[in-house]
Amino acid sequence: MTFRKAPVSARITEIFSSIQGEGPRMGERHIFIRFEACHMKCDYCDEAGKIGRTLSLPDVLRMLEKLEKTHGPHACVCLTGGEPLLHVDFLKLLCPALKKMRHRILLETSGILWKSFSKVLKDCDIIAMDLKLPSVTRQADYLEEHRRFLRLTKGRETYIKIVVSPRIELTEYGKHLRMVAAVAPATPVFLQPMSRGKHGIPGPALMRFLGTLQRTGAKWTPNIRVGIQLHKILHVR
Ligand code: SF4
Repeated sequence: MTFRKAPVSARITEIFSSIQGEGPRMGERHIFIRFEACHMKCDYCDEAGKIGRTLSLPDVLRMLEKLEKTHGPHACVCLTGGEPLLHVDFLKLLCPALKKMRHRILLETSGILWKSFSKVLKDCDIIAMDLKLPSVTRQADYLEEHRRFLRLTKGRETYIKIVVSPRIELTEYGKHLRMVAAVAPATPVFLQPMSRGKHGIPGPALMRFLGTLQRTGAKWTPNIRVGIQLHKILHVR
């Protein structure tokens, strides 16, 4: 009896062309591939519960090719979510295909699933990893996972995002930044005020708090900046 091999596919919520709204590549035009589902349940998540559709690898490549023709050139293909690394078997095929098409790959991730990351890192040009502080996410502490993940990024363009809310715990904040200082001290760290939906502008109290966090954080990681979400201010996807 012969079995036909299942087509390689993944659950994807959207594929679109837009400007990158966060981090050092803010303002560049990217193609975004947004994967369904996440292993976390952060309190502030905008993506929770979004349902995607099953797309095969050829479907995805065709859509990318079309977007590149109609909206390109694009500086990067941004793999985002949800958590793209939950789809690592798909990424193992997608990433080399993107490289063949001469795309640069930016991986946006929670920075926790280091085993999956190790299987695709060779094709990732840029890594945007989160540091998830339990006082903000209301989830477990992933300091050790973040440490292992950050070690793997050595030699690659990497930046870190920390979502900040007024309830951030300073001890926990210091512990995470000291880990970054020990593993990769020059990595840019972006302090991003927590926002929900399209409302991305924090109030004055949170802005003052961000200033305090930046000054304190600079003791450990000098390349620490306050970040914004440009797409929310411009009301684009
Ligand atoms: S890691 Fe990102 S996608 Fe996952 S629950 Fe948290 S905010 Fe949402």
